[in-house]
Amino acid sequence: MGSHGGTGLDPCIGCGLCAALCPEGVLAMEWNRYGEYNPVAVSPCTTACGLCEKVCPFADPGEDEDTIAERLYGAVPGIRHRPETGYYLASSVGYAEEHRAAGASGGVATWLLEALLREGIVDRAICVAPTGDPEKLFAFRVFDTAEAVRTGAGSAYYPVEVSGVIREVLAVPGRYAVTGLPCFIKAIRLGQQRNKKLRERIAVTLGLVCGQLKSRRFTEYVAALAGVQGEVTGVRYRAKNPDRPAGDYHYVFTTADGGEERISWTRGISEAWTNRWFTPKACNYCDDIFAECADVTCMDAWLPEYSEDGRGTSLVLVRSPLVREILEQGIALDPIPVREVVRSQAGVVAAKREHLAYRLYLDGERAPRKRVAPARPKSPFLRAEVAVKDRMRVLSREHPGTGADLRAAMRPDLEHLATVRRAARVIGSPLRALQSIRGGRDG
Ligand SMILES: Cc1cc2nc3c(=O)[nH]c(=O)nc-3n(C[C@H](O)[C@H](O)[C@H](O)COP(=O)(O)OP(=O)(O)OC[C@H]3O[C@@H](n4cnc5c(N)ncnc54)[C@H](O)[C@@H]3O)c2cc1C
Repeated sequence: MGSHGGTGLDPCIGCGLCAALCPEGVLAMEWNRYGEYNPVAVSPCTTACGLCEKVCPFADPGEDEDTIAERLYGAVPGIRHRPETGYYLASSVGYAEEHRAAGASGGVATWLLEALLREGIVDRAICVAPTGDPEKLFAFRVFDTAEAVRTGAGSAYYPVEVSGVIREVLAVPGRYAVTGLPCFIKAIRLGQQRNKKLRERIAVTLGLVCGQLKSRRFTEYVAALAGVQGEVTGVRYRAKNPDRPAGDYHYVFTTADGGEERISWTRGISEAWTNRWFTPKACNYCDDIFAECADVTCMDAWLPEYSEDGRGTSLVLVRSPLVREILEQGIALDPIPVREVVRSQAGVVAAKREHLAYRLYLDGERAPRKRVAPARPKSPFLRAEVAVKDRMRVLSREHPGTGADLRAAMRPDLEHLATVRRAARVIGSPLRALQSIRGGRDG
């Protein structure tokens, strides 16, 4: 049995591919005490085939996003490659008029799933939708109509796992599209290499850019901040303010008694998000920003030209000629240089390159093999920021509750970080100015 049986692989993002593909059905996905999913052995493993580890996006099966994507897209005519994005055929910006209001960004992802169904390219679309179940507010679902797909619009900053839907793909013939974070798409690709049905049936993969996932306790924490009293049965993470900048969205919680509470990004969500509170350990070891193994990747247009528009705008990076054709024929997106796409994710690029390099450096011999080499950044401010944020990440994960005392426990680290930032502003600015004269970080 691989290390998934019993205690679960560490780090594990809880994607559930291992549980879906285990030939003996030994694994089930269950909540751990941190509010994350992990595979748990529910019966003895007798064959030790190791498939669970071979499809794990955070194990080291001798494959990484480069080798997987090279096989998928390396020979596509006209394909190009950048170290930050992986392969890409085209990059574009815009929105889907009808889907924009409900979408997290410009609604392009939902539009695309619907178009794939409408054109008969797939029979079913797998995406994430609200459940109404307080114990599991979101789940992957298999849908076969546009109306059903629309119920999944928006981003779920909440743990979800694919074991159930992948078992359904294996059981029910047909062609499927599936949405996923970079690590989930990587796991599906590893699964496709080893399972013919998955290879044949999953026809289109739609990736989402990802800076980090959050545990279930993140939602509990924000609900407490928002003053939610009853049992939470639903949350909308990206409720838009059309008259305000795109980053100024709010979360809306609904409760079992029909109540509704809302809280804006600036009233504590941003603090928890950007300081990596409730972020699973696996996210610390991710070097895939743009879901490099996906046929198409959607993200927010975090660029000054678009981020003032609170109605939301999508950036789209395409790798598959088929998806490019569907987008070109069906929706009026504008081309945008790929360097702008990279620039829109500057924070995520930094986290999954320089910050990751430093974490790997700190791990020493224990560091997993990644595409980023371990390195100690020259900037003492960056070193301090990475260290303090990781302390907060661990503390938030271990802290017994998600109430106001959690923030109190964070206060010394928050103060430390504020001091580091002040010092960086005073001492660091001339250095940064010099760097930007030399060409800057994002090119
Ligand atoms: C955890 C997380 C972190 C993210 N981080 C970033 C970031 O740093 N920068 C950035 O630009 N964008 C990020 N995104 C992506 C962004 O929030 C939007 O999902 C993306 O831009 C698509 O928006 P849209 O309006 O085109 O899609 P929509 O029309 O809103 O459709 C989104 C589709 O994705 C599915 N979906 C939602 N959540 C999940 C999930 N957790 N797993 C699988 N499928 C899901 C939905 O069911 C729906 O089908 C993140 C998303 C998530 C879930």
